Amino acid sequence: MKKFIFVTGGVVSSLGKGIASASLGKLLESQGLKVNLVKCDPYINVDPGTMSPYQHGEVYVTEDGAEADLDLGHYERFTNASIRAKNNITTGKVYETVIRKERRGDYLGKTVQVIPHITNEIKKKIRNAAKNNLVDVVIVEIGGTVGDIESLPFLEAIRQFRLEEGLGNTLSIHVTLVPYIKSADEVKTKPTQHSVGRMREIGIQPDILLCRCINPLSKSVKEKIALFCNVSQDCVVEAVDVKSVYEVPVKFQEQGLGKKVAGKLNIKKKDKNLDKWKKKVIQRVYFPKYETKIAVVGKYIALQDAYKSIYEALTHSGIANNAKIKVKRVDSEKIQKHGAGKYLNNIDAVLIPGGFGLRGIEGKIQAAKFARENNISYLGICLGMQVAVAEFARNCCGLRKANSSEFNSQTPDPVIDLMLEQAEVRDKGATMRLGSYRCKIKKGTKAYQAYKKPVIDERHRHRYEFNSKYKKIMERSGMVFSGINPSKKLVEIIELKDHKWFIGCQFHPEFKSKPDKAHPLFKSFIQAAL
Ligand code: GLN
Repeated sequence: MKKFIFVTGGVVSSLGKGIASASLGKLLESQGLKVNLVKCDPYINVDPGTMSPYQHGEVYVTEDGAEADLDLGHYERFTNASIRAKNNITTGKVYETVIRKERRGDYLGKTVQVIPHITNEIKKKIRNAAKNNLVDVVIVEIGGTVGDIESLPFLEAIRQFRLEEGLGNTLSIHVTLVPYIKSADEVKTKPTQHSVGRMREIGIQPDILLCRCINPLSKSVKEKIALFCNVSQDCVVEAVDVKSVYEVPVKFQEQGLGKKVAGKLNIKKKDKNLDKWKKKVIQRVYFPKYETKIAVVGKYIALQDAYKSIYEALTHSGIANNAKIKVKRVDSEKIQKHGAGKYLNNIDAVLIPGGFGLRGIEGKIQAAKFARENNISYLGICLGMQVAVAEFARNCCGLRKANSSEFNSQTPDPVIDLMLEQAEVRDKGATMRLGSYRCKIKKGTKAYQAYKKPVIDERHRHRYEFNSKYKKIMERSGMVFSGINPSKKLVEIIELKDHKWFIGCQFHPEFKSKPDKAHPLFKSFIQAAL
């Protein structure tokens, strides 16, 4: 029988429920269990694809082409779960389905209501995501904070779900904050008490509390929380701040969380451990031998979450190369104003991530030029590839006004142009070239050296592409087209012949990197930087 764990959050947002869920997944896998993870997002957008990174952080892309919440990235990085579109359930998706059913007449004259129609649809979508006979445990994370109006239907749905599945087959884990008040030199349990109180009002008694705190909690604090929140003392687990998120599963293990969960759910556990993870990941993150400085040039630099998978993939390539990666975040608009030299001197490598819209574009083009001219390792991802192409066309092929037609629809040389199938598309949601596509790699290229194989599959999210009309002229000037999509003949990877390491890819390699298995392009990029 499949078991379900519901992870909710209280007190404040940004408590790291995603990391906590992913870490628990890792822990259960280390006990020989097969897990899957689902994220429920209470917002009304159907998916985050149309949201600004300032609203939502990175938009994560799954193999099957969903634009999804970035927590799905944590799930894939920490576990072996198969994460697909159905693993992200939003209020928008739920209402879309219910309204379609109502228009079809499926509700047979009934008044359609939040309870039971919306809650039934939520439960159905959770069960649908969990439909895999091999999976033992499904971890369902509910976005938002208890007390939010938006998340109420989700919480009511899990209350019902637990009764339907049998309480012994489900578990409620509540992530809360135990703040330290400096002036009183004390940690406070009241916010946690209130938060659990709100859960109980809805009819859910949490089984385990994960308490975020900056220092370990004393026994008396744990006792107090247990008493006031109606949980046993060994179920008050501290989630203390750590330098690397990859240490969280280890911290949980030290407190016996995996065993506690397995015991409560009555599931068999093989006593494996996290030794390999500790040795291959944690040791390397905390005690690297080398160091390298990478500039990430983007326009959402101020926001930690906007390029989440990029930063994680850099960390992974640091692990693979036994190096500390010092990331310098550079705002491309600043380069546009003050020139690239001011920001990119003393940098070992430049990475330009994906992006949309005109703001800061010329700064990115200048950064690509600086890397090319100064033989600095360069990795351009999606938009980062497109700006490298425009720069090369302008400065090496004599096409002075070359540009992407995304930024100048009147350019005489649209070296990056709208894909054919995009011409008629008007809707913005879920209409890009999305998800995994095949790419053939030319032998003898840097891309081949990195991947060491002729065929790869990578995830995409874009509307524009390299304009193949310009292939010849660019090839003559030293650009190599090292990766091509075999069915559509689209250019997927470019590189420069006379350069240490200069690669642009139309896809997003960052989504497939893992802490113990760095992505080959990132790994090779950092190797070159070192
Ligand atoms: N804006 C570009 C496009 O749509 C690049 C997209 C991206 O970097 N993800 O093609």
